Amino acid sequence: MSEIIKRKNSQIIGMNLTELEDLSEEFSQSRFRGKQLFNSVYKQRTDSFNNINTLPIVFRDILLEKFVLHPLLFIKKTGSDSELTQKYLFQLSTQEKIESVLMYEEKRVTLCVSTQVGCAVDCKFCATAKMGFIKNLTAGEIIDQYLIINNSIDKEITNIVFMGMGEPFLNYQQVINAAMLFNHKDGINLSSQRITISTVGIIPKINQYSEEGHKYKLAISLNSNHQKQRVQIMPISKTHSINDLIKAVWHHYKKTKRLVTFEYVLMENVNDSIADAKRLINLIGDLPCKVNVIPYNEIDGPFKRPSEEKINKFVNQINNSNFIVTVRWSKGTDINSGCGQLAVLES
Ligand code: SF4
Repeated sequence: MSEIIKRKNSQIIGMNLTELEDLSEEFSQSRFRGKQLFNSVYKQRTDSFNNINTLPIVFRDILLEKFVLHPLLFIKKTGSDSELTQKYLFQLSTQEKIESVLMYEEKRVTLCVSTQVGCAVDCKFCATAKMGFIKNLTAGEIIDQYLIINNSIDKEITNIVFMGMGEPFLNYQQVINAAMLFNHKDGINLSSQRITISTVGIIPKINQYSEEGHKYKLAISLNSNHQKQRVQIMPISKTHSINDLIKAVWHHYKKTKRLVTFEYVLMENVNDSIADAKRLINLIGDLPCKVNVIPYNEIDGPFKRPSEEKINKFVNQINNSNFIVTVRWSKGTDINSGCGQLAVLES
């Protein structure tokens, strides 16, 4: 009885190929059955064990009795099919809720996945921070955001960003496991260059990531150009200083030769002056990188979005430097799904 209860809590989505091969063997099946199961779950994206015709009925019955397929329950979507941004609400088996955001831009369909319920980091401009930290998501709970949404839309999701609720590098191993599942050639098979992990700059984890040689794109949520200012809006900088962060990004570049993207949320009278732009250029120096300027999406609180004129002046100043600069004009602010706006407000 206790074995059945334990197994019923075991979720297949999130298991890697070796785990599914081991599981098959545990139930007297050949390891090849694990590969078939992996293929059905991540490539064919089956919605039920009953539909996996490649597996013997006896094994399907074991799966039905002892396992659940989906770790998440879809609750609702905000935003119509014709809108360019849609927000999805899910419930975990432990009842907490999380959000994901889907964005359409020409041929690109990007899914922003959550990695934690709430967040402990306390960035002063962020809605998720107001929830506090509740728990880490498993790799399965991260991957299932993709599987459920991808099965419900006409197009294929082309890009994944780990930039929803939570700080990915404070849930490092589950995030890496999920990225590997997104990338696996016998499964979802998304190119590593279409998978971006965004961190506020947890320095030991950036170094670990660089040492382990992962190929996924790395983005740093910088948002400031000097230590004192950054501590005020991102108190985590007291522990992970801006200078150490730049050193860690240099190390990443030297180790991998891959460009990091610095995300810079532009807030009125906080970090949006020409002097701020010049300090940012000095801070980054000749570090090869990209800079993505994100005009702030207003939530309740003291921070405001700069005028369009001020945004353009800031961007033009940086454009005159050697960096590749882009501006992310927000999508989805009307449904609170812009960057820094995700927070589950209902119980
Ligand atoms: S911006 Fe990201 S890291 Fe900072 S509090 Fe919000 S969710 Fe956490």
